[in-house]
Amino acid sequence: MRTGKEYLESLADGRCVYVDGERVADVATHPAFQGVAGSIGALFDRAGENDMTFTSPETGQAANRAFMIPRNVEDLSIRRQAISTWAHQSRGFLGRSPDHVAGFLAGFASGASLFKRDGRDFSENVTRFYHRLLTEDLFVSYVIIPPQVDRSTTASGWDGELIQVGVAEEKSDGFIVRGSQMLGTGSSVSDYVFVSCIKPLTPADERYALSFVLPMSTPGLKLYCRRPYAVGQPSRYDYPLSTQFDESDALAVFEDVFVPWENVFAYRDVDMVRSQFFQTAAHVLGNTQSQIRLVEKMKFLIGIARKIAAVNGIDQMPPVHEKLGDLASLASIVEGMVLASEATATIDQFGVARPNPRFLYGSMGLQSEIYPRVLHLIRELVGGGVIQLPSSYRELTNPETRPDMDRYIQSPGHSSVERIKLFKLAWDVIGSEFAGRHHQYEMFYAGAPFVAKGYAYRNYGYDEALESVESFLASYDLPDSGP
Ligand SMILES: Cc1cc2nc3c(=O)[nH]c(=O)nc-3n(C[C@H](O)[C@H](O)[C@H](O)COP(=O)(O)OP(=O)(O)OC[C@H]3O[C@@H](n4cnc5c(N)ncnc54)[C@H](O)[C@@H]3O)c2cc1C
Repeated sequence: MRTGKEYLESLADGRCVYVDGERVADVATHPAFQGVAGSIGALFDRAGENDMTFTSPETGQAANRAFMIPRNVEDLSIRRQAISTWAHQSRGFLGRSPDHVAGFLAGFASGASLFKRDGRDFSENVTRFYHRLLTEDLFVSYVIIPPQVDRSTTASGWDGELIQVGVAEEKSDGFIVRGSQMLGTGSSVSDYVFVSCIKPLTPADERYALSFVLPMSTPGLKLYCRRPYAVGQPSRYDYPLSTQFDESDALAVFEDVFVPWENVFAYRDVDMVRSQFFQTAAHVLGNTQSQIRLVEKMKFLIGIARKIAAVNGIDQMPPVHEKLGDLASLASIVEGMVLASEATATIDQFGVARPNPRFLYGSMGLQSEIYPRVLHLIRELVGGGVIQLPSSYRELTNPETRPDMDRYIQSPGHSSVERIKLFKLAWDVIGSEFAGRHHQYEMFYAGAPFVAKGYAYRNYGYDEALESVESFLASYDLPDSGP
């Protein structure tokens, strides 16, 4: 299995990443990415331990359990435990850890035969790349959303050609792409990026209907990252999450990038680009990973709320119990839905155990309300404690200011260092720029809220519900009109 050290060394590959107007020489050592790269490296080290590995039936070699194609409910449980183990390391704050896109790639590979149609056969490419993922422990990120330009139409209706990434020229050994795609979370520190389009395309968008992978060092591939949150923070003590788990999000720009045929899963095929996500188990497996990760995050968040209530001496007050109870309910719903989707999984036409989409998407449909509600409840519980804090750890190390810290920022049984540490962590969850980005992330990572609710609507399976209504309506009728 790949080690964290090997992963970190592989990042100095000449990739083109821009931050603050400058090209980054080596992401592994740049202050914007060093923290998250180290956290990903630690994931790879953890994956090498026995409880996260299995012998893959596809390759016959040791591989990460989180990358598996689940064939039965037991596999789903094994996969969930591996994903949870990884998610626990970041307490759910690495949304696009390598197991996320791996879920999509496992789904594609499980239905590889779909990628062969209309005289084109990309099925071997799909299978080969999945085998590489397993044997080389690849970290693949993805950009599958067109840049926000004008959502009233699709790329073919925009002014200017190839704003969204599309085919500029076909060649015998591949094709050239030009344009852009959003929003590569983790791409700056990944090995490969998967490029496609999950938003519906029209027949006029054929040149944008693509699916392919590229190594991050591919000439012409550029990443424009948003402002990094790790840079400029005084210490891990002050910003424990920003400094370790800022995945970075980037607009990917393709400046006449050559894509060899062997990296291609779909080409100028609107229907295939959509089918890859939804006819295979890809969307379900990828998003199940996200929900398992969210379970870990919710536990962490309600743990912080519970601890702060105790430290502040409000944990015996009935109104506080109500708030903690609200949090407990919300966390339980997410966890319960993951377990329910696993327990009632079915085997699809490709022999893949698919978590029940009713429960998977049911939870995702509420996520844009659940996560903000959790943050709001924590805000209510912490009050001004997350603001009544020294500007940095230096007030604790300066002998001139330390006595005031010790006297005025403490709680019974909790020293100033402990109390400040806890409340600074809470601020990085609810109030820092990193926290704001996570608020946005949880609302949008699987599509806008109306999209997530659309998944819930389409996957509920209304037969039982409608039958219940029909049979009830049939059980009574107009009253007798009498003699
Ligand atoms: C922090 C973060 C990380 C992300 N990481 C990734 C990543 O790693 N890879 C990736 O590919 N993408 C990523 N995304 C992008 C994400 O998938 C998109 O944000 C999501 O699909 C929604 O698309 P959008 O942002 O363009 O919103 P839009 O589609 O523009 O929607 C914005 C709002 O406009 C309204 N709206 C738009 N269209 C309609 C409509 N048809 N009907 C009704 N209302 C409408 C809704 O109110 C909607 O909430 C990330 C996003 C965030 C915020």
